[in-house]
Amino acid sequence: MVGIVIVSHSARLADGVAELAREMAGPDVVIAAAGGMDLPDRPLGTDAALIMRAIEEAWSDDGVLVLMDLGSAVLSAEMAAEMLPDEQRSRVLLCEAPVVEGAVAAAVAARLGEPLERVADEARGGLAGKAAHLGAAPPASGAAAEPAADGTTGSESGQRPLELRITVANRLGLHARPAARFVQTAGQFDATVTAENLTAPAGPASARSLNGVATLGVRQGHEVLIRATGPQAEQALSALRELAERNFDESPTADGQGAAEAQPAPARPAAGSPAAGSPEAGTLPAGPPSAGPPSASPPSAGPPSAGTVLRGIPGSPGIAVGPVVHLRAAAIAVPREPATDPAEELARLDAALAAVRRQVRAARDSVAARTRGSDEADIFDAHLLFLSDEALLDPARSFITEGRNAADAWDSAVTQAAVAWQQLADPYQRERVRDLESISSAVLEQLLGVTRAQLSGPGIVVARELTPADTAGFDPAAVHGIATALGGPTSHAAILARALGIPAVLGLGDSVMTVGDGTPLLLDGEAGSVQVAPGPAELAAAGQEGERREQARQHARRRAADPAVTADGTRIDVAANAGSVQDVRNAVEAGADGIGLLRTEFLFLSAASMPTEAEQAAVYADLAEVLDGRPLIVRTLDVGADKPLPYLPRPEEPNPQLGQRGIRLGLARPEILRTQVRAVLRVAARYPLRLMFPMVATVSEVRAARDLVADARRTLAAEGAAVPADEGMQVGIMIEVPAAALTAPVLAPEVDFFSVGTNDLTQYTMAADREVAAVAGLSDGLQPAVLTLIGRAAAASGQAGRWTGVCGELAADPLAVPLLIGLGVRELSVNAAAVATVKEAVRSTDLTAAAELAAHALSLPSAEAVRDLVRNR
Ligand code: PEP
Ligand code: MG
Repeated sequence: MVGIVIVSHSARLADGVAELAREMAGPDVVIAAAGGMDLPDRPLGTDAALIMRAIEEAWSDDGVLVLMDLGSAVLSAEMAAEMLPDEQRSRVLLCEAPVVEGAVAAAVAARLGEPLERVADEARGGLAGKAAHLGAAPPASGAAAEPAADGTTGSESGQRPLELRITVANRLGLHARPAARFVQTAGQFDATVTAENLTAPAGPASARSLNGVATLGVRQGHEVLIRATGPQAEQALSALRELAERNFDESPTADGQGAAEAQPAPARPAAGSPAAGSPEAGTLPAGPPSAGPPSASPPSAGPPSAGTVLRGIPGSPGIAVGPVVHLRAAAIAVPREPATDPAEELARLDAALAAVRRQVRAARDSVAARTRGSDEADIFDAHLLFLSDEALLDPARSFITEGRNAADAWDSAVTQAAVAWQQLADPYQRERVRDLESISSAVLEQLLGVTRAQLSGPGIVVARELTPADTAGFDPAAVHGIATALGGPTSHAAILARALGIPAVLGLGDSVMTVGDGTPLLLDGEAGSVQVAPGPAELAAAGQEGERREQARQHARRRAADPAVTADGTRIDVAANAGSVQDVRNAVEAGADGIGLLRTEFLFLSAASMPTEAEQAAVYADLAEVLDGRPLIVRTLDVGADKPLPYLPRPEEPNPQLGQRGIRLGLARPEILRTQVRAVLRVAARYPLRLMFPMVATVSEVRAARDLVADARRTLAAEGAAVPADEGMQVGIMIEVPAAALTAPVLAPEVDFFSVGTNDLTQYTMAADREVAAVAGLSDGLQPAVLTLIGRAAAASGQAGRWTGVCGELAADPLAVPLLIGLGVRELSVNAAAVATVKEAVRSTDLTAAAELAAHALSLPSAEAVRDLVRNR
């Protein structure tokens, strides 16, 4: 029989409810009360340890239903559940039902031997009798309804909670940013929404609480049950469903590592610091500079000696040299004395929260302005949510009403919440507790009048760890580098450092904190190393390396807009890949010669329904305008496999990468393909658009697709629309299926160009799923097998008088550039950040030498051997 636990701020209330429920259901039902706190002077409150004991008391293999009153009761119950062993936790259900009515209904159902879910449903419907009597809409009751076609469930009149199950696809699960989106979206509706992790049972948690949602521990692939009641329950669920389908507004590649990761590493010798081999006299500490190789590990006590190399985690690329500038967080001593006037304390807390809200908004705006509106600024949205999170504010306010001062109350509420974060299994999600702590310190600083630590001058900032707000406030002109004792590459401080272009090494351990202010440091953000008081030789080498990288970068940047011509005079177009209008703008700014791949599936990812012909044409025309005469290759929708589209639901496939994706889907759903082709044709009448089909495997697919284009052209012309002449719009195909590369001689005459998708071509050639980390070693575009197929395709297209490009990631690898050119590739389409360096790689390539190099590479046994060959050429 299911056991029941009653959690309340008041011990008497909990006992009373248990007594009432027993009275109704009979003495056989096991009901344990967990009310109040185990403190004689502070009886009102909730205590996770008491709740855990009550769960044990009510334990039954059929499960335990926990009913809670409000605020911290929910949080404490969640903590108690977290503390249970895994197998027990999975049979504990925290139920959002009303305590008194829910307990009575649940006790009756439990007594009848109902299973846990059914007992919970009965509890949820506990208000039905009262509501019916008073003429209000009866709330939830009974078993869950069957799912409707759109994924929601619910009764005809919306009287029960509506339900939606989603599977979270984001690589890092529902970490702070997607969880923040979740809370923001749910909060827009007049509905009570809860979320529950079904895969790793946790919750339900209120969807109004960032702490609640983010600490459900939802990881990639987890199923989440969302329940909504209230007048706008349906709208809330539908908005949440769309949000989930949009991957919670994280970009498809978002991994928490920050978009700036792909940027070339900046070299940042500090002005006025002992860079470039010219150490300032007197800046090195007494003692001989290191001779020979630097000592590799830090000493265990005392400051590291001159020449010691501290090893940490690469946080943000670049070399920096400069004196240590410690940023020591001001010590915050939270007073524990009780306060006399709760109203005054509440007002102080509100004022502090408002002040921090203003600070966070200012930091967000500053980062957004300095990173041209990148996603990184969203980090601060999560911080703003903490400041209005009921799971923090409710306990903080109730602590104040119980007589604590505002700082004590806030600190205690944060400490409680932090426990739940720290128990999450996923290290990335666990690291988000730092965000909570950072916002908590900001509020305490306000409450206690502590001044935020200031930098004493320019140099390399050394800190135990940095908050996002600290990092956002750094001026790259003064902060040449960042070295922290704690933190990892996914910390928000690291993400911001990358976005702001400040080299950073994290997780160096406490020894870095003992290095004195002003001591010169040599920091390499790629190697993850920091050398203390480097000797003249190391400084000279670092200075030269930094100088070399910087010059190469600047040189490449200066010439980024110039055509890329090989040393012996062949023009290679270096275009960019794009999936949004912003990508196209970035591409033009980066000097791209055009767009070599427009991933239209990303362009319309957030649309709720298939965009109409007119809507699509308007977007393509906008992009073409931005490109100002540069060519734009529009790839038709490549949906399926890892790229689902909300408005194109797909049947389950056992092997989605081998399923109906790309052109296969386009030909199976010709109305979708036709709409897109017609939109492209309309715009191609005015701008240099090209059309490209993805995932082609056979010549019959190409013919069918071309027939569809010809048909669309005729129909449009008959309707009086302007269309390009037959030869006025190039039509090409992607070579990303080995079959297409192998039959390239048959395919080439049917099209105007090939563009090799090396991401998929590698995946299919090596039979290594591009999403599976365990086989990532095989997924290397420099595998001789992949190069052989590229060479075959390029040769066939050359013979037929067509051109071949490469738009997969391989094209952005400077080592691959001479090989691809040597194999006959004449266009490279890369991410905007790589355009300048790829153009430089083209310029240093000689066609004849490249052809010899490529031929040699095809005979090698491995990708590593190919890499060595190119490096040592
Ligand atoms: C590829 O497969 O290399 C390619 C460019 O297409 P996508 O990455 O969009 O599948
Ligand atoms: Mg592909």
